[in-house]
Amino acid sequence: MLSRYGKSKELFARAAKLMPGGVSSPVRAFNSVNRDALFISRAEGPWVWDADGNQYVDYVGSYGPALLGHSHPEVADAVQKALRDGFCYGASSEGEIKLAEVIQRAFASMEMIRFVNSGTEAAMSVIRLARGFTGRNKIVKFRGCYHGHADALLTQAGSGLLTHGLPGSAGVTQHSVDDTLVGQYNDTQSVEKLFAEHPDDIAAIMLEPVAGNIGVVVPDTEFIRALRNLTKANGTLLIFDEVMSGFRNGFGGAQHFFDTVPDLTILGKVIGGGMPIGAYGGRRDIMQMVSPLGPVYQAGTLSGNPISMTAGWATLEYLEANQENIYASILRHTAQLKIAMMNTLGRKTPLTVNTWGGMITPFFAEGSVASYDTAVGSSAAQFSAAFGGWLDAGLFAPPSQYEAWFISAMHDDDCLQVATDALSAAAELL
Ligand code: PLP
Repeated sequence: MLSRYGKSKELFARAAKLMPGGVSSPVRAFNSVNRDALFISRAEGPWVWDADGNQYVDYVGSYGPALLGHSHPEVADAVQKALRDGFCYGASSEGEIKLAEVIQRAFASMEMIRFVNSGTEAAMSVIRLARGFTGRNKIVKFRGCYHGHADALLTQAGSGLLTHGLPGSAGVTQHSVDDTLVGQYNDTQSVEKLFAEHPDDIAAIMLEPVAGNIGVVVPDTEFIRALRNLTKANGTLLIFDEVMSGFRNGFGGAQHFFDTVPDLTILGKVIGGGMPIGAYGGRRDIMQMVSPLGPVYQAGTLSGNPISMTAGWATLEYLEANQENIYASILRHTAQLKIAMMNTLGRKTPLTVNTWGGMITPFFAEGSVASYDTAVGSSAAQFSAAFGGWLDAGLFAPPSQYEAWFISAMHDDDCLQVATDALSAAAELL
């Protein structure tokens, strides 16, 4: 065991002296599964290799960006070419237009777009815009929905907080969350109650239209439609956080799946093809409030940088041209992986597998998982036991019960065989 992970262990000891928890983002510390962090040295297609040279089938997918798999040749070629033309300019370049145009072909609701550097930045910027446009203060988010780590959005945020058992973050002032109201996911009445308590004061409702940060939870279509009706009736903006759900179930987002048009959308992950990125956009009349056209200020030294733009448009243009085959393959693999999970882990313990497009979560829970409470009610201890089994057998998945696994265009039958064997080995430990 020691020798299999010896180099990772050595690197982790070095990293822990320099970086809190030895990592640059908390979930990578593997705390909740009682393992040492894994150090990755290489990734290609659907595979990753750790620092010890062990090969894994990769369902982390970099937490979402790797929709075409790692280092896709067309994307890598475009990025290599772009690198020779300079890394960033502090001025506009054509790549921004190319990326905005292909995003708009997928998300017609994004009539105007602003690029930023992360999903977090997109979320905090879009909230400011919603407040500036409506002249109202309060926002509604949902328990378990994660929108990055901006102060106002860190209450009941699922994701790494949930993994580490935290309700919110230290260092966030009461003042910055006073205007954040929290609704129950997939529960329309909880939102009606908030509107009744705060009439004429809610600037926006923001949600993951398919939740991914408590594991995958797909809401009822009626819930999404009700939010659209309630926001319209109350002069409140509806914001879809499609940072994770975007491009996951087709060349578009959850807004197409639910046939519901939000006022504003935020994107990240896939649209940067693995490079740092975020974007917000939506109705032209709202976006015209953004500086320099309007009074809502937001800026960035590295925003729209040519390398992220290139990786983004190369990814999305390839996806657009090959969407039929790619999504057929992703959906097939997801369905097969679900069956493999049920036939292995599910034979040993209660298991509910939720999927949406190329997102999947095996919940160690009995019965349907359709809310925050049912997701959190699943067994993190069972997950942790199984995790060790499949990791040791060559399957790399997010080290938390409350995360989505991601299937890429490159996952094939070989991957499925490795995954099935690894899940069988994990089932032996339950
Ligand atoms: N929104 C959602 C739905 C996310 O899943 C994430 C990150 O996982 C974010 C926002 C924040 O994005 P980033 O990590 O790029 O800041």
